[in-house]
Amino acid sequence: MTFSGDFTYESRPVRVVFRPGAAVSATPGEAEHLGLRRLLVVCGSRGEAVARAVAEALGDSCAGLHAEARMHVPVEDADRAVAVAREAGADGVVAVGGGSSIGLGKAIALRTGLPLIAVPSTYSGSEMTPVWGLTEGGSKRTGRDPKVQPRSVVYDPELTLSLPVPLTVTSGVNALAHAVEALYAPDTSPLIALMAEEGVRAMTEALPRLAGDPADVEARGQALYAAWLCGSCLGSTTMGLHHKLCHALGGTYGLPHAETHTVVLPYALAYNAPEIPGALTVLKRALGTDDPPHALWELAGRLGAPRSLAALGLQETDLAEAAVQVAGQPYANPRPVTVDGVRAVLEAAFQGRRP
Ligand code: NAD
Repeated sequence: MTFSGDFTYESRPVRVVFRPGAAVSATPGEAEHLGLRRLLVVCGSRGEAVARAVAEALGDSCAGLHAEARMHVPVEDADRAVAVAREAGADGVVAVGGGSSIGLGKAIALRTGLPLIAVPSTYSGSEMTPVWGLTEGGSKRTGRDPKVQPRSVVYDPELTLSLPVPLTVTSGVNALAHAVEALYAPDTSPLIALMAEEGVRAMTEALPRLAGDPADVEARGQALYAAWLCGSCLGSTTMGLHHKLCHALGGTYGLPHAETHTVVLPYALAYNAPEIPGALTVLKRALGTDDPPHALWELAGRLGAPRSLAALGLQETDLAEAAVQVAGQPYANPRPVTVDGVRAVLEAAFQGRRP
């Protein structure tokens, strides 16, 4: 990207430990480093075995295990988890799992101010952001609060070995979306551009290897490293059209998070392309292509990911309303967001045709 000497960059204090086996071997040390002695471990039902191993490693510093994380953090789940944390006398929280588990940990941190340690098992990147989300009455609210930013993040590639190939691919593209939108965010900066380029390069190199051999620990490590970089981009910048579209499609129409990101990204990028020459230069270099939207579409299809919103269960009759909803919200995007423009993006994504 052409150097622009006009930017603001804020780094947030977070420790990152990265190594195979770290979930069990490093989490107790991170708790100790933060001076925490009574940690509540939270996870989803599927991740309970790993979370239990982390809880056991914490030994006397574990105040309990709460395995009730669900997608999009329903507010009643947050209420219950906060009550459990208070009853247990917890002085900190460890969230083990994907964005949903980390989201529940953040909800506890938001209400109680308890420090959070994140042990991510997907590539969602939530662990690197001060963004929380809560769902109430069918609509999802999000906000930023430094309280919810994990103080310590334990990246363990071995934890991701169990991610099935379809979720590996879509979660990986979810990470790519953070880097892509960070490159054209109003608050982007040269450091973000470096992280985004390396994140896109590393993730797009790792995903085909993982589709071929999901047990390749080195490729798992590379994908998780990319997720860290892409998540850092997400945490430091303001997202645009792509994330707003996915938020609406997930929140209002119940579409699955990572899959929706995977389908929408090539079309949102194609829409913004005329206005983002600098970001495209970086993406062309990172992807080794002249046509980044097509390369992302081709990659997802080649690795067996869903390619259309129709395949995810959206109804064609929902497109008009979704377009009005997304165009009606004010947010930063390099190209003006019009109802017709969003509608065209949604229609192309609905059909899954070449962007
Ligand atoms: P998720 O946490 O819901 O996980 C998806 C599924 O994969 C779940 O069934 C889970 O049990 C399973 N899973 C997770 N890790 C696994 C593993 N290693 N092996 C096998 N199965 C595994 O989904 P996600 O995509 O990680 O996160 C999505 C959620 O996170 C959404 O609610 C999204 O809004 C939120 N999110 C928030 C931020 C933020 O900054 N606040 C960022 C990204 C995502």
